[in-house]
Order: sequence, then C-alpha cells, then structure tokens
Amino acid sequence: MSDCIFCKIVRGEAPSWKILENEFVYAFLDINPVSQYHTLVIPKKHFENIFDIDDKYIMEISKVLRHLSQVYQQRLGINNLQIVNSNGSEGQQDVFHLHFHIVPRSLGDGQNIQWRTHPEWRTQFDQWLEELEL
Ligand code: 5GP
Ligand code: ZN
Repeated sequence: MSDCIFCKIVRGEAPSWKILENEFVYAFLDINPVSQYHTLVIPKKHFENIFDIDDKYIMEISKVLRHLSQVYQQRLGINNLQIVNSNGSEGQQDVFHLHFHIVPRSLGDGQNIQWRTHPEWRTQFDQWLEELEL
C-alpha cells in the first residue's frame, strides 16, 4: 500500500518513534498521545483491519501486546492500561491499516471510555444466538 501512512512508517519513509520491531510487528508511539507511552502495535504487512488479518499476524501482534504490557509494567510501573482496536469507519477506525492502541491509564489522567449500556436487550439474547447459528 504505497500511500498508507503506517506502511510508510514501517518502510522508514515517514518518521516514527519506534518502541519495538520484529519480523512481523512494528510498535511505535502514537503521534497524538492520550496518555504517556500511548503506543500503536501494527502488522508490518498491510491489513485493513480485523476482518482481513491472517492467523500468523494476529498471533504475532497478540504476543507483542502482552510483551509490551509486561515491559511497561516492569520498567515503568504501569499497572493499568487499555488495549483498544477499532474496525471500520462506523467502528471509529481512522487509519485503515490494522492497529491496536496500548493506552496506559492512571487515576486522574482525564480519560474515560464510557459505553451506553442496554440491559433491556437481555430479553433478545436467545434470539441473537439463534440467528448467529454457530
Ligand atoms: P484509530 O482512530 O484509527 O484507532 O487511530 C489512529 C491513530 O493513529 C490515532 O491515534 C492517530 O493519532 C494515530 N496516527 C495517525 N497518523 C499517525 C502518524 O503519522 N504517526 C503516528 N505515530 N501516529 C499516527
Ligand atoms: Zn498499510
């Protein structure tokens, strides 16, 4: 993907603050951090999102997500973090090269992910499972 910003970062054609790199995965600081050490973890091969990523790459990304979380805990004392991934424009994905955010969290950091819940939908659960047919 010649004009994908994250592919350019992987190829070294756009600047980045690299945290870690291996054969499959590249991790770097988000340019607009919402907390200290806000990190993006991406496959080095272009996949748009969770819908087209292959087994090998998603597995390698998972390993790096855990590894970096543990490194941040051990080296930086970060004991709270969120791993966030968005897919599709209506899923609030802005850059269409799959990425996971590692967002360290702490008391009073001013951030707050809040979901509007619908407990009244519990009555539909049986029907949802039937429709899914898994
Ligand atoms: P999304 O909304 O797709 O989950 O997140 C895209 C993220 O990519 C945003 O947090 C944004 O700050 C980050 N981003 C966009 N362009 C660049 C860039 O050129 N360099 C870096 N390091 N991060 C970027
Ligand atoms: Zn790309």
